[in-house]
Amino acid sequence: MAGRHLVGVSVASIYGGELPLPLCQVAQDCLTSFGQLQADLARHGGRLVLTDLFRPYRLQAELKRRKPRLAAAPLASYHCAGRAMDVALGLVGLDYQVLVAIMAGHHWFPLASGRERWHFQRTRDVGSGGRFASVAEAVRWVGNDAP
Ligand SMILES: [Zn+2]
Repeated sequence: MAGRHLVGVSVASIYGGELPLPLCQVAQDCLTSFGQLQADLARHGGRLVLTDLFRPYRLQAELKRRKPRLAAAPLASYHCAGRAMDVALGLVGLDYQVLVAIMAGHHWFPLASGRERWHFQRTRDVGSGGRFASVAEAVRWVGNDAP
């Protein structure tokens, strides 16, 4: 059931307009946070501009084939769960530390490893205290666990 628990969002992209379908989707429980995050960034004089958000299974599998050491497999990527975004850091208009603080206020966090500074993810359903035991479970919840 592709598309289950996924909702569309409007967000600026590096592709000369808004982020296109199918990328412009988030997991249902992230929708409110995503909108509030954009508003909060705007209040601080910034703007959310993305290179990536949701990735369909096929797209992530292709990425893994092309960049085996850099990219995660579909069931190991929060992008496939609609819970990760890649920010165009140079276009946000805010210092990185300010961006990180605002993101954290909406439960979007960079990787603990410090790698891929542009990548932020919201791994838990904050409202329920953490619905998902694994990335794969989060991917299955949005029905994106097969090509
Ligand atoms: Zn990413």
